[in-house]
Amino acid sequence: MLTAYITHADCARHEMGKDHPECPERLGAINDHLLIKGLLDYMRPYDAPLATEAQLCRAHGQEYVEMILNSAPAEGYHRVDPDTSMNPYTALAALRSAGALVQATDLVLDGKVSSAFCSVRPPGHHAERNAAMGFCFFNNVAVGILHALEAHGLQRVALIDFDVHHGNGSEDILRDDPRVLMCSIFETGLYPFSGENSTAKNMVNVGLPARSGGDKFRDAVTTQWLPALEAFRPELIYISAGFDGHREDDMGNLGLVEADYEWVTRQLMNIANRHCKGRIISCLEGGYVLSPLARSTAAHVKVLIGAD
Ligand SMILES: [Zn+2]
Repeated sequence: MLTAYITHADCARHEMGKDHPECPERLGAINDHLLIKGLLDYMRPYDAPLATEAQLCRAHGQEYVEMILNSAPAEGYHRVDPDTSMNPYTALAALRSAGALVQATDLVLDGKVSSAFCSVRPPGHHAERNAAMGFCFFNNVAVGILHALEAHGLQRVALIDFDVHHGNGSEDILRDDPRVLMCSIFETGLYPFSGENSTAKNMVNVGLPARSGGDKFRDAVTTQWLPALEAFRPELIYISAGFDGHREDDMGNLGLVEADYEWVTRQLMNIANRHCKGRIISCLEGGYVLSPLARSTAAHVKVLIGAD
């Protein structure tokens, strides 16, 4: 079992100002911790390529893609929403992040690796078909999923999102696509205040109140996600891996710990081993306090590479 580790130095050149929580140091903290834990020894490193415009336009409108690619300022910042800004390198970083998911999809479906972890930023799951928001520009995981469906001809792909915030962008792009099952758990009453009243047939959305803790999270996975995944029989599983539900991360209050991320990853590996030859592609989303972000990512990756 071989796991790809896909990232790029350009992903750390995008930044949104001093003290912004979605900071370049997130990727370094993850890399250092995976290294210290010896987990990188089990992973094959790849530099993320640039996504092409055609790959992006499977998930986004062409005018929107061109607007993002042409909006990077020569210097300073260009603000696209109250929390989300572009610096001169943002478009480049966003192209690398989406490109990582395309590359992961090709590597896994060509049988070169069985799983992949994309350590990239900007994150993607809030990016809608025609809107950047919530620190996100291109919906990396949706670009990967649509590449699997349209370039590789897969018929059933699952997307799991355990970020503390609802993945409104992924739902916007993938809703009512019968080839996709999206399973999501998020904290209610948090940005972007969506997900609880979804009418899309292919969404399994579970909103949990603040301070639910690991037991309620695991109950929701067991009773809602796993039966839906078993019935759907995915050919490939993608994970929007946000670690901002950790109890030390003040972006949310779900109260999860490393053991919860390890546990949920193991449940998903079991499904992947039964239905899709262990094929899982995981992509970093949120997680803003560096120490719990790095520790949680290591707990997740340890299961992905089969070192647990
Ligand atoms: Zn988040």
